[in-house]
Amino acid sequence: MWIDYNYLNSLRTGTAEDPLRILMSACLTGIECGYDGTANGEYPSALKILKYPTVKITKFCPEEFSFGTPRAMCDIYGGTGFDVLKGTAKVLAEDGTDWSEGMIRASEKMLALAVENKIEIAVMMDVSAACGSQVIYDGNRFDANKKYQIGAGVCAAQLINHGFKVISQRDYKSLEILYSKIDTAHTKNASAIDHHEIQWYKDYFKDK
Ligand code: SF4
Repeated sequence: MWIDYNYLNSLRTGTAEDPLRILMSACLTGIECGYDGTANGEYPSALKILKYPTVKITKFCPEEFSFGTPRAMCDIYGGTGFDVLKGTAKVLAEDGTDWSEGMIRASEKMLALAVENKIEIAVMMDVSAACGSQVIYDGNRFDANKKYQIGAGVCAAQLINHGFKVISQRDYKSLEILYSKIDTAHTKNASAIDHHEIQWYKDYFKDK
């Protein structure tokens, strides 16, 4: 779990003149860059961010950058995105093709955009082998006995390794803090919780 609440709380307040600089998974902004040419569904928690004049959003789809759209699905085998970057795990497409190199290239492009745009926070699609930041599949998502693991996808891991902070579209407590930084009139929902606090997560990863 890489959510840094101290960092989130210390984020400055964005203004129209000096907006908060946010990097988002492009699919979370409605861009149809998912593997099947859709936007992977609508996530109001993420779309809400786009409505404010107090943000400057950098949108990027790393998988589209390296593999185009539409494309196969892919997952990480033998570790997490951090391990792929170290060369000890692989990203494999559905047909077994090794996508590790392309994914690492995409993560480097995402990092370059984050640096160039002086990103202050990233909001990324969880579970993706590229953009996941809290939970990802452990191997083949199509396996009847599919497993999840705590960990980041390759691109989120690249950002985290370089000091950027990443939250996901379902980290509702963190998003409440972010909303309060981009809308001074926002009243935080005190009952909102992040994904690592939900019962499924606690039950599934109870030994981790
Ligand atoms: S999760 Fe990331 S890689 Fe997948 S479609 Fe969205 S932006 Fe692209």
